[in-house]
Amino acid sequence: MMDRASVLQSLLKAVHLPAGVQSHVNGELVPGQGDDIQLIDPFTEKILCVYSDAGAQIAGNACDAAKSAQQKWFYEHSAAQRGQVMQDISRAVINKTEELAQLESLIAGKPIRDCRIEVGKVAEMFAYYAGWADKLHGEVIPVPSGHLNYTLREPLGVVFQITPWNAPIFTAGWQIAPAIATGNGVVIKPSELTPLTTVALVALAESTGLTKGLVNVLCGTGPTTGQAAIEHTAVRKVIFVGSPQTGKQVALSAAQALKPCVLELGGKSANIVFDDANLKHACLGAQAAIFSAAGQSCVAGSRLLVHHAVHDELLSMLSQGMEKIQLGDPMNDATEIGPISNAKQFSHVTDMVSQAKATGATVAATPINAEKGYFVAPTIISGLDNNSPSAQTEIFGPVVTTIPFEDESHAISLANDTQFGLAGAVWTANVGRAHRVAAAVRAGTFWINSYKAIHVSSPFGGSLNSGFGRSSGTDALMEYTSAKSVWLDSAETPRIAFGYVPE
Ligand code: NAD
Repeated sequence: MMDRASVLQSLLKAVHLPAGVQSHVNGELVPGQGDDIQLIDPFTEKILCVYSDAGAQIAGNACDAAKSAQQKWFYEHSAAQRGQVMQDISRAVINKTEELAQLESLIAGKPIRDCRIEVGKVAEMFAYYAGWADKLHGEVIPVPSGHLNYTLREPLGVVFQITPWNAPIFTAGWQIAPAIATGNGVVIKPSELTPLTTVALVALAESTGLTKGLVNVLCGTGPTTGQAAIEHTAVRKVIFVGSPQTGKQVALSAAQALKPCVLELGGKSANIVFDDANLKHACLGAQAAIFSAAGQSCVAGSRLLVHHAVHDELLSMLSQGMEKIQLGDPMNDATEIGPISNAKQFSHVTDMVSQAKATGATVAATPINAEKGYFVAPTIISGLDNNSPSAQTEIFGPVVTTIPFEDESHAISLANDTQFGLAGAVWTANVGRAHRVAAAVRAGTFWINSYKAIHVSSPFGGSLNSGFGRSSGTDALMEYTSAKSVWLDSAETPRIAFGYVPE
């Protein structure tokens, strides 16, 4: 069997990146100029490869390249032509699904079955926004003065996107597609821990016909490469997907230069189960909410709020269900949960569980048969209240904290008692209650008798520590454009209320 560093080399050849991790700037692969960064395989804990942080100069070159390519993309192509290029990219991504999915699985430790689905969603994102490229138009506004007033939706220029390690290619497609559909140039910095599929995606898009230099990828760390791009004068907006702590730093740096941000941050979402719910369905939903992707999902249902009458019954069903979940090599087709993606996150998750145990929680976890790898088994924490760290801190692992509630108003007040506002769900057979709870819980996305359904056509985002601004759907088109108001006076004498017509 090939060792995993050799598997990486053969995958890199398949996606035309034989030299390993390099930034993609103005259509060229460029080696970094900074400190060494190691990519560690989360399954074997061995080094897969080492590369150099891009650094400030390469970040500057990427922003300059995006600025000049944006002019070509927007002024030398019709909107319909831009849409055609994006349709071609969508098809090219579908044709490379297996290679991209395997690369993602190896580097991020994500189960291959999830990676295939996420690559498919990237293709869908390019196709969806391709359709919008020639349908984005302004309005004619019946202003009272009688002028003809109309609006244009204009691209911002260059946008800088920063993405995390938990769903690298998905997040890249999610942000690149609406940005270029609306005529912008892009510089994107994936997590330094998972840069490869973003580079592969952009290289593939260029080989398919995307204007060279329109989308540039920086491989490097946030404080070095990322900050340099935020400060670059060509960058007009920063779109950040990541943790609340880093989001605050990014927003502060952007504010210094009066640049707006979208912040897509973390969550501590409440999955609420009433006693009239179909408990088998709720149990399925609870597993998908927290154990899929090993809980490394911003919308994870990490707080399970259960009506006291069915709390113990649902917990016992959940424990039975989680015993059957397959942990293992992420590149194996049967694996449902891979390792935690990196060592830092692994210690955070295990520390949070140890802390809960130390404070008297009941902790149920399935046994793990792995001698190596950053594995955390599906885990249920119970016996703590909603003020405990495990109910208030984003754990970002397959760890759910369950809390019983008394009635509807108690459930709503527990759901809203965090610093987050990203997602949530309710399980009930009572239609009126379902809508009352959906309206009352603070969340950008809310599910009724479901969990984790998302689509590129539907808006996504949060409030408070979950961030601000929206991605997906037509909301993303607004985030990536600005409105220009144009006034035309058709009167014989201009309708101007000041000054004198010369004799
Ligand atoms: P992180 O905040 O540590 O890193 C995110 C990105 O920020 C990385 O690319 C990193 O290199 C960069 N970065 C770090 N310091 C920076 C700095 N000073 N300046 C500029 N960039 C900097 O997050 P993570 O650990 O990679 O990802 C996990 C977090 O992401 C979780 O909180 C999760 O909830 C969140 N997330 C949110 C969404 C969403 O859509 N709301 C989606 C996925 C993940």
